[in-house]
Amino acid sequence: MAQPNVAALGGSSLIQHELVVIGGGPAGYAAALYGAASGLDVALVEEHLLGGTCLHVGCIPAKELLETAAVLRTVRHAADFGVGDVGGGDLEPAVDLAASQTRKQKVIDGLARGVTGLLAGRDVTVYKGTGRLGAAHVVSIDHGAGDPTLVVSEHVVLATGSSPRTIPGFEVDGTLVMTSDEVLSLDEVPERVAVIGGGAIGCEFASMLADYGSTVTLLEAAPEILPGCDADAARAVRRAFRKREIDVHSGVAVADHQPGDAGTTVRFGPAGGNDAEGTDLDVDLVVVAVGRRPRGDSAGLVGTRVAVDDRGFIEVDDRLRTGEPGVYAVGDVVDTPQLAHVGFAEGMFVVRDLLGESPAPLDPGTVPWCIYSHPEVAFAGLTEAAAMEAGHDVVVSSHRFAGNGRAMILGEVDGLVKVVAEKDPDGRAGRILGVHMVGPWVTEQLGQGYLAVNWEATVDDVAAHIQPHPTLSELFGETVLSLTGRSLHG
Ligand code: FAD
Repeated sequence: MAQPNVAALGGSSLIQHELVVIGGGPAGYAAALYGAASGLDVALVEEHLLGGTCLHVGCIPAKELLETAAVLRTVRHAADFGVGDVGGGDLEPAVDLAASQTRKQKVIDGLARGVTGLLAGRDVTVYKGTGRLGAAHVVSIDHGAGDPTLVVSEHVVLATGSSPRTIPGFEVDGTLVMTSDEVLSLDEVPERVAVIGGGAIGCEFASMLADYGSTVTLLEAAPEILPGCDADAARAVRRAFRKREIDVHSGVAVADHQPGDAGTTVRFGPAGGNDAEGTDLDVDLVVVAVGRRPRGDSAGLVGTRVAVDDRGFIEVDDRLRTGEPGVYAVGDVVDTPQLAHVGFAEGMFVVRDLLGESPAPLDPGTVPWCIYSHPEVAFAGLTEAAAMEAGHDVVVSSHRFAGNGRAMILGEVDGLVKVVAEKDPDGRAGRILGVHMVGPWVTEQLGQGYLAVNWEATVDDVAAHIQPHPTLSELFGETVLSLTGRSLHG
């Protein structure tokens, strides 16, 4: 490593660490915590809030507000269970979003205290400020006032994350047009909403706002919502959304919106069509949920060999190493699934790699995915279409929650479990390639499917195990059992 020219950096003294991490979101704080647990002297640089997008404007607040929606649904259907206004009909509860926001903030604050405490407990030095990596592994930390702090380390991890993408014609103003950042602070329920983008985040918001009582239209450019999900799973969500009167339009492009006296009018039409064929939709709020832009340019990188591609991702190899020896990049800022748990795994992976432990590279194709709409979606491994595209001869089986005892008890019978397995030369189902679930609490049920895919288990391996009764997870067991050629209930 070349020696830095400290004089050229303003003459401040250099503080040495064994690992410097820029960005304190899940990927960055995982690298910091795991590095410290491995005995390294670690520094973490964060310019805003420890916990990053996930904790403050992502996973945690979104799931917290979705839980308010779930409670509302439960109370609405309480009379079905003989609970509530005896003699009356279903309860008609209303949502107080301001109260829900207070609860959300309490959860965030508690978890933020937890992250801060863990870092302090492991003696990680936390620097508040914007970190910029320059030549010779020197990170200059700009505190907004006063001299920057200069730190240097043989190993640097870039974990600068991502921010919401926007689209032309939909300037975010925080009142008529919002991204996830602003939606998560809503304190009143909008009457009519257009959600642009039918991916995971768009579907979660569409589902949540529909539960709150908004009239929701979901607009997706791809031919089906939830691109990347198995086609049967996406169709099951679409069917469930239709039942809940969420108006789903796929294969459409939005043109622009025109604010009026009350709300605004969104113009959309067939993707690739012309504006004259467009439809006008009057709404009070437009939610833009069209993905997230990696912040590859956030950490300076001048004088380094770290490359950023034209989409904003930092370029890395399969060991998450950048072009600059000793410098890694992890989390949303690299082109792997933009998920918090992938960030955790990548943060831990690079620590093991820099320690010379030679961990096996992570496979982005088999990570677990969970979407917390109603119904929930969870999957790991290949979809049926992707498995066939990859040249596998496949056998599939799917079973619906409609026949599952626990689902009937809960009154949550929408959804299915689908297992994609490789067809062995004898025609029987062999290795499990993908597990796809839609329905009640499937985000908590995916564990078995994830392990089956990643342990490269066969249908026979999994079918030999017992599922407790009555549980929702019996449906996974039943689906795998049916692939052995004999089933019990299905
Ligand atoms: P981030 O969380 O974006 O953190 C990056 C951090 O780096 C930020 O704190 C930022 O301030 C800091 N930073 C940037 N540049 C600098 C700099 N130069 N110097 C110092 N600090 C800097 N994922 C899931 O797995 N499950 C979910 O259910 C889920 N739900 C989501 C819901 C929503 C609405 C959104 C928006 C996202 C959701 N995600 C979910 C995605 C998840 O939030 C991200 O994948 C995750 O936060 C990425 O972690 P990260 O550490 O790479 O980046």
